[in-house]
Amino acid sequence: MPSFLKPGIIDILDILLVSWLLYRLFLMIQGTRAAHMALGLVLLVVGSLLAQVLNLRGVSLIISSVRVAWVVAVAIIFQPELRRALAQLGQNPLVRRVLRVRVPQAADEIADAAALLSSRGYGGLIVIERNMGLKTYMSTGKPINAEITAELIVTIFTPGSPLHDGAVIVRGNQVVAASCILPLSTPVSGRRAMGMRHLASVGITEETDAVAVVVSEETRRMSLAVNGRLERGLEQTRIRGRLRELLSRQYE
Ligand code: ATP
Ligand code: MG
Repeated sequence: MPSFLKPGIIDILDILLVSWLLYRLFLMIQGTRAAHMALGLVLLVVGSLLAQVLNLRGVSLIISSVRVAWVVAVAIIFQPELRRALAQLGQNPLVRRVLRVRVPQAADEIADAAALLSSRGYGGLIVIERNMGLKTYMSTGKPINAEITAELIVTIFTPGSPLHDGAVIVRGNQVVAASCILPLSTPVSGRRAMGMRHLASVGITEETDAVAVVVSEETRRMSLAVNGRLERGLEQTRIRGRLRELLSRQYE
């Protein structure tokens, strides 16, 4: 390639990359609270450029002196979006391999267990501890302290097993307790009726930051509860994906 062409091509590549990045950023924040804030931010940047071009020294001085505060403010305001972006990046298998992100083994085992329970028509309720301790609830059941496997969870929830009633609690890669009693959420009239197991899954995620996976004995449907919301009727792959997302410590 003739040497005089090189800068031109690099520039085009640069412009393409920046456009693509801006486009992805726009897609990410489109329709969110952040979109309005981004608009405000763009106005501020334009204002600062104008102030510099027009040589408004006072305005420039103020804007440049609060520049550091801006960076911090942007990080705080866009924290949920940044977190989501990092989590999505972390889901990418290539990035995972490069960064050696540890996927919690629990995510896959619990998703497998849910699918097995569902295929057999067994009910199940699995609660996974995150930052808030679940000791109070563990003490209502029986200690297990065994490495987590799908088979262990299915064994626990097999009808007739002495531990099948109540919830299993998972911490890290361990099943720590079974037969635990969880707080029930208050049924809301008008919302689709929920039985005790499902109310318990919502209840624990209202009171703590835990995640719960429920398998219905009646309908065989698998659901996931987090932040007091029940995501109903999920496929195994979706449960696995949600758990990987919610349990990856790197992004907490
Ligand atoms: P399913 O769809 O499986 O029938 P459901 O939401 O309709 O679930 P129930 O039929 O009432 O719920 O399920 C009862 C089971 O839920 C009990 O056998 C028990 O194992 C479990 N359960 C009930 N209350 C609690 C609680 N407070 N904490 C933990 N588990 C509970
Ligand atoms: Mg029921």
